[in-house]
Amino acid sequence: MRLREVRRAIKRVALWRRKSWLGSTSLGVAMVCALWLGIVTKHTENRAIDLAGAKRDLQNVTLLFEENVLRSIGEMDKALLYLRRSIEAGKGNHDFHSIVSTTDILSALIVQVAIIDANGIMRASNVGPQPAPATDLSDREHYRFHIGRTTDDLFISKPVIGRASGKWSVQLTRRFLMPDGTFGGVVVASFNPAHFESFYGRIDLGKGASYALLGADGIVRASGGDPDERFRLGQDLSATSLFPILKKDKLEPFWESGAESATSQLFGLRKVAGHPVVVSASLPERTVYGDSEHNAYIMLVAGLLLTLLILWATRRAWLSEMQVKEKAEQLQLTLDHMSQGIMMVTRDLQIPILNRKSLDLLDLPRSFLHSPPRFDELVALQEQRGEFTNADLPEKIGALEAFGPSDVIGRFEMYERVRPDGTVIEVRSSRLRNGGFVRTFSDITQRRRAQVQADRMASEDTLTGLANRRTLMQHLDMVLQERMSQDASEPHPFAVLYLDLDRFKFVNDTQGHAVGDKLLLAVAERLKASLRQNDFIARLGGDEFAIVLSSSERAERPEIVAQRLVDAIGRSYDIDSHQLLIGASIGIAIGPDNGQTGNELLIAADLALYAAKAAGRATYRFFSNEMNEGLKVRQQIETDLREAIVNEKLELHYQPIIHLQNNAIVGFEALARWRHPVNGMVPPDKFIPIAEECGLIQVLGQWVLQEACSQAAKWPKHLTVAVNLSPVQFANPGLAGMIERILAEAGLEPARLEVEITEGLLMKNSDSNLATLQRLKDVGVRIAMDDFGTGYSSLGYLQSFPFDRIKVDRSFVSKLGSNASSSAIVRAVVDIAGSRGMHTTAEGVETEAQRQGLAMLGCDEAQGYLFSKPVPLDGVTKLIAEWAPQLKSAA
Ligand code: C2E
Ligand code: CA
Ligand code: CA
Repeated sequence: MRLREVRRAIKRVALWRRKSWLGSTSLGVAMVCALWLGIVTKHTENRAIDLAGAKRDLQNVTLLFEENVLRSIGEMDKALLYLRRSIEAGKGNHDFHSIVSTTDILSALIVQVAIIDANGIMRASNVGPQPAPATDLSDREHYRFHIGRTTDDLFISKPVIGRASGKWSVQLTRRFLMPDGTFGGVVVASFNPAHFESFYGRIDLGKGASYALLGADGIVRASGGDPDERFRLGQDLSATSLFPILKKDKLEPFWESGAESATSQLFGLRKVAGHPVVVSASLPERTVYGDSEHNAYIMLVAGLLLTLLILWATRRAWLSEMQVKEKAEQLQLTLDHMSQGIMMVTRDLQIPILNRKSLDLLDLPRSFLHSPPRFDELVALQEQRGEFTNADLPEKIGALEAFGPSDVIGRFEMYERVRPDGTVIEVRSSRLRNGGFVRTFSDITQRRRAQVQADRMASEDTLTGLANRRTLMQHLDMVLQERMSQDASEPHPFAVLYLDLDRFKFVNDTQGHAVGDKLLLAVAERLKASLRQNDFIARLGGDEFAIVLSSSERAERPEIVAQRLVDAIGRSYDIDSHQLLIGASIGIAIGPDNGQTGNELLIAADLALYAAKAAGRATYRFFSNEMNEGLKVRQQIETDLREAIVNEKLELHYQPIIHLQNNAIVGFEALARWRHPVNGMVPPDKFIPIAEECGLIQVLGQWVLQEACSQAAKWPKHLTVAVNLSPVQFANPGLAGMIERILAEAGLEPARLEVEITEGLLMKNSDSNLATLQRLKDVGVRIAMDDFGTGYSSLGYLQSFPFDRIKVDRSFVSKLGSNASSSAIVRAVVDIAGSRGMHTTAEGVETEAQRQGLAMLGCDEAQGYLFSKPVPLDGVTKLIAEWAPQLKSAA
């Protein structure tokens, strides 16, 4: 997982963790509750408003009603008083009929006027047959009310069906007196209760509203409004729960069950001033709350819709929350099983993420997994435990610094920390945009150990465990550097010993590599035993060692050490029950006198070594300036060679290769020569190694190829040309391409070019070298293994590549007659080569006996002084003519 992805995922987890207590579900439920609470509250409020409005309306209506009733009663009372006055003014004239008929007091309100005498007999009425028949009304209350009464009161009757009119009416009566002041009778005015309907009709209190005029006795005097809701005319309410309320003085609107229906009604009552009647208006509950009910319905529908919406949204949120949660859990699982430790630190130093591996790697308490400390507390804890003492960290990492560039001395992004137990932790950090950071911990102990191992291997000689050449050079540079910085007047000289074993190659060749290796190990042990701890020993390869003697005032003189080493190594060895005897030659160079650089010192010691060997081996020699002359010669050669290549002072000589069966030339080997202006002809053995060392071999090799190919192109088509390739040339990855180009330019068929390589080429970098060879072979160039028998002479090399030719080294050829094993080896080579379709060429054939021996062994071709020495270019034509196939085969 890449750090950035981890970081993003961690953020998600942290976010989720922080707000998971308020999940979407509870949020949704809370929203629905709030919604319905709001609706209920609003509804209650609406009902209260409705109720208040209805009460107000009822109060207003009853007030108007009272006024209306007062006016009506007043009007009728006025008529009664007028009638009475007419009667009383008659002074005993009791022609009631004419009074009634002449009194014009009938109106929309007053439907009948009548006069009842003192005995209760109706004497006159303006309704019915005229003159009205005397009707006994002495039982009627509106008459009886006035008998024996001392006060002049207005009486309002219950509604009755009029005996005269046959209609519902309410009688209002007053007494009248005789001239002598005695009770004379009663004047009656009847009104039609329906009169009030016009009043009801004018008022629109609402659906189902009803009105009534009630007597204090509980009898309904008039009634109107909704037919289903109103009281019946004449209905007696004295037994109902309404009745006691009528008696109260102060009348607020109140709830009571209505007249017919059982539904609750809001009643507004008002006493009519001065009269024993009460006006009533009432509204059924459903009308009172009509508006709020209507609103409630709308709110209910809206609320349901909203609820559905919220629930739907909640479900969606819940689903996605579950997904996030699941992802987060998966991530948590991943974090817990990561091979890396991971930690997230927020800007306010909280640690929302700290995985199991972090705890393992940093050795932190388990409890941190669920309750991590603050980051600064964590740092303090680690510091207290000495975690940072090894770590190349600043003394104190303040919390703030942990975020800044000064974190771990400016290595915020990546640093390594060595824990007290030696484990190495790689700490990588990456900033988050919100100011925190994510940090990973990886255990790189193994990697570091492997690196140390690799470093050691790179600096060590694998066989003996001594330093190798590279390390020696580093050591020498270091020693020289130390010397430079010391006081120049007192330079401590120091010695470099170059040690080469005598007769080692012989032991190696005769006893085998295993014994050779053990011998080298034994030598290394003796060297160590003969030197001081501070002395530096390196194996330079093969049987060569170098020693740098530590210098101090009390140091032994180098010649004493050298002699001790010569003696130690010269003692016999017992390896695998072989008694072995070798020797050592040592060259000594003194630094910094004999050399300013490690290389110079080593060359000086090497030159001294040559001197030691020249002096008969098993001894030591100090470097002297005369030796340097040799070095100078070499350097001169290098300079001259460079110049010779540039100025084309090199030439090629050609040595013919002869087919042993038919004695004809098959081709030539091109061999480089250098005509030196002072030293004369320089053989390739002298300058090729130098060219290889200083890199000139690349240009030189290219020139040889060009020259050889362009010359060969002029020869008869059956002749080939062989060119030697140095292993160093193979370092150039463009070698094969270059050869192809040269062939094309020279116009030489690739099959006529044979390149000669040596075993050494196959020993290192074999893969890329084999690839180059294969590419050459693919284009048709032939490949020859040169000098077979000089190196490791491993027959295995013959199998490593399908060579076209094996050239048997002249060391075998020269021993052919005298050494039986030589002919056995030659035969083996010839056999193996033959079985693989390879040709064999014997080199250095000098005698006729050798030629015949080789021919008998089955060797294909031969080359040597017997046939011809390498000749300059102008000798080639003559040789071709001399060795023409038809001539020789004829001979
Ligand atoms: P080599 O490839 O083994 O070449 C054969 C050497 O044996 C040549 O020496 C040749 O003069 C010598 N030789 C031929 N016949 C006889 C004989 O019958 N008896 C004796 N004693 N020697 C004989 P040369 O020319 O001095 O070359 C020495 C080596 O230098 C060559 O050995 C080859 O390895 C290297 N060399 C020569 N020219 C080149 C070149 O152009 N490039 C590279 N890389 N190496 C070259
Ligand atoms: Ca050769
Ligand atoms: Ca050779």
